[in-house]
Amino acid sequence: MAAYDPHSYVKPQQAQIKHINFKLNVDFPSKTIQGQAVYHLDKSLKGSLYLDNRMVQIVRIHADGKDLEWELDKQDPIRGQRLHLKRLKGICSFVIDFVTDPQANALQWLDPQQTLGGDHPFLFSQCQAINARSIFPCQDSPSIRFTYSAEVVVPRPMIAVMAAAPQTIQTEGDLNRCRFEMPQPIPSYLFALAVGDISSRELGPRCRIYAESEIVEEAAWEFAETEKKLIEAEKMLGPYEWERYDLLVMPPSFPYGGMENPRLTFLTPTVIVGDRSYTHLVTHEMAHSWTGNLITNATWEDFWLNEGWTTYVQMRIDEILQGRDYAQMKIELGRGSMFADMQRFGMDSKHTKLNYDMSGVDPDEVFSSIPYYKGQAFLEALENAVGRERFDEFIGKYIATFKFQSLSTKAFLTFLKRHLPDAFKAVNVREWIYEAGFPEDAPQTKSKLIDEVDASVAAYREGNLPTSDDVRNWNPDQVNLFLRRLAGVIPLEHCRHLEKIFNLSDGKDYALLSEYLALAVRSGDEEILPRVEAYIEEVGRGFFLRPVVQAMAETAWSRDLIRPIIERYRGCHHPLTVRLFERILDKAGI
Ligand SMILES: [Zn+2]
Repeated sequence: MAAYDPHSYVKPQQAQIKHINFKLNVDFPSKTIQGQAVYHLDKSLKGSLYLDNRMVQIVRIHADGKDLEWELDKQDPIRGQRLHLKRLKGICSFVIDFVTDPQANALQWLDPQQTLGGDHPFLFSQCQAINARSIFPCQDSPSIRFTYSAEVVVPRPMIAVMAAAPQTIQTEGDLNRCRFEMPQPIPSYLFALAVGDISSRELGPRCRIYAESEIVEEAAWEFAETEKKLIEAEKMLGPYEWERYDLLVMPPSFPYGGMENPRLTFLTPTVIVGDRSYTHLVTHEMAHSWTGNLITNATWEDFWLNEGWTTYVQMRIDEILQGRDYAQMKIELGRGSMFADMQRFGMDSKHTKLNYDMSGVDPDEVFSSIPYYKGQAFLEALENAVGRERFDEFIGKYIATFKFQSLSTKAFLTFLKRHLPDAFKAVNVREWIYEAGFPEDAPQTKSKLIDEVDASVAAYREGNLPTSDDVRNWNPDQVNLFLRRLAGVIPLEHCRHLEKIFNLSDGKDYALLSEYLALAVRSGDEEILPRVEAYIEEVGRGFFLRPVVQAMAETAWSRDLIRPIIERYRGCHHPLTVRLFERILDKAGI
């Protein structure tokens, strides 16, 4: 039985969608998709069916050639509209003809100049958390799974790619008709579509990379080790159930690092830096193939089950492929972001809990690294309580028991208590899951890489600036941690010195630039302004933009300058990123 979901109007007991046949016409001039969806249900419907809908224009709803009665009878700023199909008499399939809104918040329509190629537009979807309902009316709750087939018509030479198995591409005049089958059942938030002038390269027997032609060779080199990671992941988590693991490099405005759309992970282009130093992001998205896509959070209140488990598994695979020091360094950086998020909400805020009642809370508004790193630390504490061997047995059992199902926090804890009772006892489960903040007895990070940075920070505090020689062998994560540890205001000449020794002046390492620009702004470096502006124009990943925009909004000299910059580049950014900007400016009273 599906759980009560505060972010959906759906009543699963009415009937559940099992399969959808889509016909989608992608129209760039009007920024709309004209669609038809044929829904197949698990049982025949009598009375009412509720679907989630946001701004999708309903043209007609029918079954066996006859119109059905329907009404948009409820409205809510977070959930959107309730589409109520009425007086149903024993049907188990129906059809909705619809047109998406140009402002649909799951879809971003890019003009040709916003792509690398510059000749063709681009479209991509981002349905997590509750945005699938702005593409097609659906039971938009992660506890309901369906399979689908799709026929997507797009203008040539563009093609469509989906988080599904590609079938055929048929050319008809100026159009390409692309067909897909998704044989594995997915929750609606894992529905994904992109359209553009996209090329591909093979990476291995099960892995391929898709990207704009301008970047596809670089991307193929950067992610060449994907198949190797998949093999490691299978050793730990069991067989890969989705047949293929392909990657799609997104245009710069993609708001996240990655999105684990099944069979086709969507990835920010900011990780293509030429030395594979950020491919741990692929490890993370790949791990979701088990923890997230195979075992899915029942509602967004249980998001930590997706992200905490995935961050834990990512750490384990990082350990195997790159060593424990490397993996621990990643955790340290992640925890830094987690503490920054906790401070932003307030350490006592309910948003720092792993599980709380989210009625009236928009999951996109409170998205943070807390479910990732507090969740990971909780699982590591459980592992420490019983040892790795027994915990690994538990992981195997967990995945085998719940695959292709959704799970609530409560159900997870019941399973934990039953199969790992001593861990359940040894760790203060109540504090970890239901209390705010971060437990004091959390597992500590330990890494030589962190120690080197800490020694350098201590020396800096005593007046010794690091030299180029001191940091010659540092990896980018160490530089990142060093810049974060300084957090605050430093003399201008120190900014310039660090910029030089860390080669930050013309780099494309956006993770480092994010930290550096924020530090320079706070330290009063007014000459940095053109670079801040270029950064806000170029980078789309919210996680990298936040520190820079926040520093600008909170520092006296730059406070009045940030709003005009945001207004100039608003059009380059994803709606989710624009909302992030607005939250930061609102909070600063700008
Ligand atoms: Zn994730």
